[in-house]
Amino acid sequence: MKSNIVPGVAGVGGRPVPEGPEIRRAADRIAKVLVGRSIEQACFAFPELQPFEERLKGSVVDAVDTRGKAMLTRFDNELTLYSHNQLYGRWFTVKRGELPETRRSLRVALHTSSHSALLYSASDISVLTPAQVQSHPFLSRLGPDVLDESLDTDTITGRLDQQRFRRRSLAALYLDQSFLAGLGNYLRSEILYAAGLHPSRRPVDINVEGKRRLARETTRMCRRSYRTGGKTLTPGPGRKRSGRFWVFARASKPCFTCGAGIQRENFSGRRLYFCPVCQV
Ligand SMILES: [Zn+2]
Repeated sequence: MKSNIVPGVAGVGGRPVPEGPEIRRAADRIAKVLVGRSIEQACFAFPELQPFEERLKGSVVDAVDTRGKAMLTRFDNELTLYSHNQLYGRWFTVKRGELPETRRSLRVALHTSSHSALLYSASDISVLTPAQVQSHPFLSRLGPDVLDESLDTDTITGRLDQQRFRRRSLAALYLDQSFLAGLGNYLRSEILYAAGLHPSRRPVDINVEGKRRLARETTRMCRRSYRTGGKTLTPGPGRKRSGRFWVFARASKPCFTCGAGIQRENFSGRRLYFCPVCQV
């Protein structure tokens, strides 16, 4: 059966778990089949959400937005479906009447006359009013979205200089969704490498030019990953076309810039890769 499987949502077998760019690409695919379309049928597995099945019926999907790793499906009756995939959730889009080949459990189904958007395995799902979106405990804590087109270098350096962030290691900061929403484990390694900064450095110890470089690489890496489907490596001497990353998941392999062995360490509980020579 042909199904349009949203990629990059594995998190097993060494593949990274989805980060902001992967969630945004999943949202784009869902938007393609839902936006501007009327919901003929909505189904929820969780009993507490089932009262919304009737309320969403006949509503039109206005937008499928992302805030970091959360997805917001907005309906024209002002309700918003909030979903956060955590590690296991996965969206599929299929033609109406088809089902993807998966052994996961179906949690949400939104059917138009021609297509279905199906969310499997996620547990963090709710239907919110505009006021509840505003006061949502996860959403209200999020920093600016890394894929927001209006996010600029000054905004990021401004945040690096804030009291609550400036004395924390970059390794910790670059996983903290209240600093910037949508960052995650592979982006953290790739951004710090591109900026030439060691993961243990703190904003307070980095000069203005270093912070500006870090800010520029932050948006550049995230946007490239969004465009390419999770690939941050650019072509060049010694780099295979199939390669995805500069340093992530490349422990002991030679750095593409200096040839030194890439190191892997646990920082803030997650694996982080860096070049001991290029990143100081
Ligand atoms: Zn190097």
